[in-house]
Amino acid sequence: MEKISVIISCYNEEKALPLFYDELIKNIKSFPKTIDFEIIFVNDGSKDNTLNIIKNLSSKNKQVKYISFSRNFGKEAAIYAGLENCSGDYVTLLDADLQDPPSLLLEMYTYVKNENYDAVGTRRVNRKGEPIVRSFFSKVFYKLINKMTSFEMVDGARDYVFMKRNVVDAIISLKEYNRYSKGLFSFVGFNVKWIEYQNIKRVAGKTKWSFWKLTKYALEGITAFSTAPLILSSIIGLFFCVVSFLLIIAIIFKTLILGDPTSGWPSLVCIIFMVSGIQLFSLGIIGQYLSKTYLEVKQRPIYIVKEKSENLIN
Ligand code: UDP
Ligand code: MG
Repeated sequence: MEKISVIISCYNEEKALPLFYDELIKNIKSFPKTIDFEIIFVNDGSKDNTLNIIKNLSSKNKQVKYISFSRNFGKEAAIYAGLENCSGDYVTLLDADLQDPPSLLLEMYTYVKNENYDAVGTRRVNRKGEPIVRSFFSKVFYKLINKMTSFEMVDGARDYVFMKRNVVDAIISLKEYNRYSKGLFSFVGFNVKWIEYQNIKRVAGKTKWSFWKLTKYALEGITAFSTAPLILSSIIGLFFCVVSFLLIIAIIFKTLILGDPTSGWPSLVCIIFMVSGIQLFSLGIIGQYLSKTYLEVKQRPIYIVKEKSENLIN
């Protein structure tokens, strides 16, 4: 019997969860009866009633399982925990706020089952209902990161994917601490079918992503998958060495011929400011990579489980 694992990461989703669950069950019913389902809720240290709601669902429906973290570890950690603990032949990842419509699941399954695809990814074709500044910066981010990496990151891609077991195993084998799931999904490759849908607003509750958090996440994505910024700082450094060398020669000639040794200190101050600014900027870039290396080297666990349901495999 084939089995599909549905993984949902939840952080303070008490309002959205009941709505999400009803919608998910409705869509699961449209699948052939020969397919078994496993619904894994990962409670990412919610401070509201989320865990109780999940436990309640689990006691009513034995397909529902849960993992609950000791604190908030972030969505990436929740996804990883779900992937490690699921046993399906196919696995899908969803948000709890219905921004990833479960109505696409059957279509996604059909692509993987009947056509030669290993995974189906989803992308939003628009960002209606999102602040314009946010959309603008996200466009810039995808342009940048695609220039800097050797594989393609799809603009507007969501974490909502449907994968075969081989893709799941590949992603689990990437054990890094700084996890950027969209990047990991692109990194492992395989034959991916992309389907598109219009942006949907979350049904209830609030987004956990502030602009600042998103900026940090974007920088994480870049440093996790590209070393181009390090090369960039070397190139800028080299460029200024060449410029200053040319200037030195020009000044020597000027002094020898015209004899005007003291003028020009304001321009000197500008140059000092600029060059020291660039030096600090480059140091900052190096610092970013160093801090990531530091976190990786410590090999801390990606998540810590406080409790989980008994019917989980691990
Ligand atoms: N989420 C999580 N841990 C976090 C933040 C978010 O598990 O620290 C979950 C959240 O419950 C939701 C999904 O990740 O199911 C997406 O979060 P959200 O809707 O806030 O993000 P957005 O859709 O606005 O990007
Ligand atoms: Mg959302």
